Order: sequence, then C-alpha cells, then structure tokens
Amino acid sequence: MRIVSPFLKRVFYPALSMAGVFHRTSAPGLAVVTYHGVLPQGYEPVDPAFDGNLISAEMLRRQLRLLKAHYNVISSEDALAWREGRRELPPRAVLLTCDDGLLSCLTDMLPVLQQEGVSCLFFVTGASAGESRMMLWYEELFLLLLRAAAGHFEISSEGVVIEGELGSREQRRGIWWNSVKRLSQVDELSRVSFLRALRMQFKLEAERAFDEENPASCRRFGLLKCGELRELASAGMTIGAHTMSHPMLSQLPIESAYAEISEGRRRLESALQQQVWAFAYPFGDPQSVTAEVLAMPKKAGYEAAFLNFGGGLGVDLPPFALPRVHVTAGMGLAEFEAQVSGFHARWQRRAGRIAQRVAVTQS
Ligand SMILES: [Zn+2]
Repeated sequence: MRIVSPFLKRVFYPALSMAGVFHRTSAPGLAVVTYHGVLPQGYEPVDPAFDGNLISAEMLRRQLRLLKAHYNVISSEDALAWREGRRELPPRAVLLTCDDGLLSCLTDMLPVLQQEGVSCLFFVTGASAGESRMMLWYEELFLLLLRAAAGHFEISSEGVVIEGELGSREQRRGIWWNSVKRLSQVDELSRVSFLRALRMQFKLEAERAFDEENPASCRRFGLLKCGELRELASAGMTIGAHTMSHPMLSQLPIESAYAEISEGRRRLESALQQQVWAFAYPFGDPQSVTAEVLAMPKKAGYEAAFLNFGGGLGVDLPPFALPRVHVTAGMGLAEFEAQVSGFHARWQRRAGRIAQRVAVTQS
C-alpha cells in the first residue's frame, strides 16, 4: 500500500470532498473495498500499525452511508454475474470485501452491514472450516515479539533461524515483518514449532497470545469457527477463500503455494456445502505475489482473485489480479472517497507523469 501524503489526507482531499468533486466522477468500472473488520467494543488497540487495518464500527457506518448516497453498492452475486458476462455493472459500482475472518466480522461488523442493508464478500482461511478457535500465526508472532525481553536473540527451529536485536517498537516491527516473510517459506506445522521455540526462549510459555475469556480480545484475535462461518453465510454474506494458513505466497515453493490456494477452496466448499468462486491473496501487496502465483487461482477453479492495492473506479480489472482499496484506521472519509472514486489513482498517475517530465527536462 502506498502511503498517502499528509497534505492530500488533511488538506487537498477534504477540500475536494467539501466541493463534491468526488461525487461527480464518471469513471467506469468497479471499485472494490477491502476491510479487515471493525474494532470490537472494549478492545484497546495494542499498536497503531498492527491494529491499523481495523476501523471503528461508527466509521464503517459513515463509509457505508456515503457509498449508499453516491455510489451503487453491488452484491457478490452481481459481481459474479458481471465476471461471467451475464450482467453489466451499474454506474459507480462498489463491491465490499473483508479479509481474514476474525470473529468480530460476525459479532461487530455484520450488525452494521445488516442495519445499512448491504452485503459483503468475506475472505477466510482454512482455519474457519474447523471447530477450534484459532488465531492468525503472524498476529501471534507480533504479540510475542512485543512482549519478548529486549536484547539480542537467535531462534532456530526446524531449519528456520531468525536472529536480531529487540529494542524499540520500530525494531520489533521490522523483525516481525522479516520473520513473516521467512516463516512464509515453511509449512504451517513448522511455523507452529517456531512459535513454540520463541515462547520457550523468551519464557512466555504461560502467556496466552490472546485472552479467550475476554470477549473483546477473543473477537479481535479469534478466527471464525465453522458454525460461525455458516452463520455469516446464512445472513446473506458471501464466503471467499484466503488460502489455508495465510502465508505470503511469493515466498513459498510453487507446489506449496498452489496447495494453499486450492485446498483453501476445497475445505470451505466442504464446510459450507456451496461453491466458493472468489479468492484473495494474503497480504495482497505487490511483494506478496509473483507471476506464477497470479496464474494459480484460475487453475484452482476460482472465477476471480483479488489483490489489496491499486483499487478505485476507472482502474484496469484483470480478473485474477483485481485491485482493491485497502481501508485503514488512519483514512478519513474524504480520503476514503478519493480512493473509491478513482480520483486518488488518477492523481498519482498524473503526479508520476509530471515528476517524469521534470526529471527529463532537468537531465
Ligand atoms: Zn489476510
């Protein structure tokens, strides 16, 4: 995801929004919005960057009302019909999606979607086809690294060696992100072993990654279980796949990446007894996929696959690399609309061309 400059965020986009510029855009196509759920009531964010994908229920409601007033929020069925060539998109079409399948999708997000009368395409991992309460391995890793004692460390488990210096929060975030890439290269069991080794090294064995007795913590970190996933589907929401275990696919051997993509679909279809046609690449940024990975969802039988950047009306829509607008907590309503309307993408392209021209004139 590109960082949006403070000037655009705080001055330029709010001014254009006030003037109603975004509402008047006539760019064709489809804007796909990515949520990651809402902050459950009573949950205190651990870290602004780590929790930054979750927005408040109130902000979700404001965004949905804005979309309903000035755009056409289409259902997942409409999106599939468009993808299969059976239906045209309405003007200013927007599709809502939400990744990862946190429990808060059911407890905190669904009520807002229902009150506003819109539906959403939820991308969940293979963990949500099971019966036990799981959490995302990379979130557990972050929480453990945050609690680990400061100083130099080296952890070696099943061929994975990670070392570094734990100090400031910034340092810990850096080590975490490098570890996410490294641990994406191994299978799920090796990741579990690594997390166990990390707990032992830092004497965190007794600590729970999240408190299952605390409802807010459980809704924030727990993943939907199979029965809860069925509840979400019965409420009129569509379920799509997000791999078995949420690795960064670009880091995996090709056969393992394909197994993550195809097995995720098979597992969900068997749990839900319905077809799963949509796929979202975990993380979904340019570094998380390769050309080989982008060719896999079609082979695995999906009708469409979604990235997590570059979205907005008027952008190209390759069916297996569909761009999306990644909604974050730091995004105000004006920036949200600048992105959905495609204004932001067009602005970036124009700014890029101007910068190129300046560079050519100066060289
Ligand atoms: Zn995800």
